[in-house]
Amino acid sequence: MQNAINHIRSELSAYYTENELQSVVRLLISKITGFSFTEIFVNKNTIFSAYQWDLLNFYLEKLKTGMPVQYVLGETEFCGLIFRVDPSVLIPRPETEELVEWIVKESAENSVILDIGTGSGCIAIALKYFMPQADVHACDVSLESLQTARKNAELNENQVDFFYMDVLEEHNTDNRYDVIVSNPPYIPYAERTEISDHVKNFEPEAALFVPDDDPLIFYRKIAGFAKRHLHAGGKLFFEVHRDFGHACLLMLREMNFQQLEIKKDIAGNNRMIKGIIP
Ligand code: GLN
Repeated sequence: MQNAINHIRSELSAYYTENELQSVVRLLISKITGFSFTEIFVNKNTIFSAYQWDLLNFYLEKLKTGMPVQYVLGETEFCGLIFRVDPSVLIPRPETEELVEWIVKESAENSVILDIGTGSGCIAIALKYFMPQADVHACDVSLESLQTARKNAELNENQVDFFYMDVLEEHNTDNRYDVIVSNPPYIPYAERTEISDHVKNFEPEAALFVPDDDPLIFYRKIAGFAKRHLHAGGKLFFEVHRDFGHACLLMLREMNFQQLEIKKDIAGNNRMIKGIIP
């Protein structure tokens, strides 16, 4: 296996920083051998079969195109659960795990929850995992992503009701929720140049970017929806762009949300917002 590790390092050193490379090595070896990260350490002398070498070279070719390792392997970890990911869905991020943790802490166990723009389903599925008595619903405008999300719920043996909804349109349902959460697209197109190629060349554009002249478009629409569909005392949670936390908070205040709170992520950036319907 040490040969394989050296091979990965020499093939990919031009494409990744040392830190990234270390995690890519572990992910590749673990996927190919089935060993956990700790098992890799104690099994360094295992010999790769011809099939394992072929598989490794197949993955390496894909990685050299700049494709994120999560898409190459077809999976990632989020909140300790495994999620299938493909280019129809955003790769779940660690910041979003912090949002899930906050919601779990702040919500009644049997809450009725809606996740808007669910993508891979990561938020909804993780919430159902940590709050088994909750009634969790999740929607997306992308039919492909709904398929991936449904597969992820199955994979994690967990019941979430997924449905199609375009939150930018008007809706005539009378469903009511205790908690609404969203991690909507929030990167203005003008920032595209600062975004790494792994992200902008492979992850779904519609899940990432918003118009420069209206970066809060999804927040405004979702907050409007939340005002009509949250019970009195119901809570709205958002993940936000680090530069737009205060703008978003101000907007929610104007829309009469109460007890507004903004929370930083582990990197110290404003990242999450909570508001309550009076
Ligand atoms: N809710 C999904 C996530 O948090 C998708 C978010 C998105 O596509 N903007 O990863």
